[in-house]
Amino acid sequence: MLEGLAQLIELQEIDVALGTAESELAKLPEARGACAARRESAAERTAEAKTAVAGAEGRQRTAETALQDQEALLAKLENQQHQVKSNDAYTALLREMEEAKEAISAAETQILEAMETIESASSATAAVEIEVAALLEHLGAEEQAFDVREKELATRAETFRSERQTVQDRVPPELAIQYERIAKRCTTALARVVKEICQGCRMNIPPQLYIELMNTEQVHVCPNCRRILIPESSGN
Ligand SMILES: [Zn+2]
Repeated sequence: MLEGLAQLIELQEIDVALGTAESELAKLPEARGACAARRESAAERTAEAKTAVAGAEGRQRTAETALQDQEALLAKLENQQHQVKSNDAYTALLREMEEAKEAISAAETQILEAMETIESASSATAAVEIEVAALLEHLGAEEQAFDVREKELATRAETFRSERQTVQDRVPPELAIQYERIAKRCTTALARVVKEICQGCRMNIPPQLYIELMNTEQVHVCPNCRRILIPESSGN
């Protein structure tokens, strides 16, 4: 085989593995961001549930105050019943008492409604809290796994880079430059030829080139995709 070609094959294997490690590493920040977003929306759900309880508690207190005020008013009006002198004044007093009773009844209804809301909102909050606690535990584990994976990938990438350097140093400089140039354009700079077909672009190799490829110690590139061709007989 052409000098340096075996090293190039090795180089490409390392590059593919390095590329895989690097692209997985590059995806980690996004995955972490997704975890953070889920944490945030979980916190929002908990806050919303608690706000619903607090709102109903506030409505209950307001209605209780209104109830006390109207009860005090009604008591005062009842005391006035024996003091009124005219029929008109008595009718007006009765109307005021009726209004106070209606307000009392409305306040009682509001208190009951608020208490029902507090009960349902509290159990909803408890359910949300259980769900959120489980989610946070899951996210915590996921984030921990990301940390472990990140270290693993970084170490692996570092190993590949140093292996790459060792292998590259054994490739004739011109060939190495050619490899790098093609690798920038296509992820894989080398293409095997199988049954006269370039495995990089799946095009047929012209017969003359195929004969040269099989018989000469020269670098040949695919006329279509410009990848360095690896003859069928070359190892692996
Ligand atoms: Zn090709």
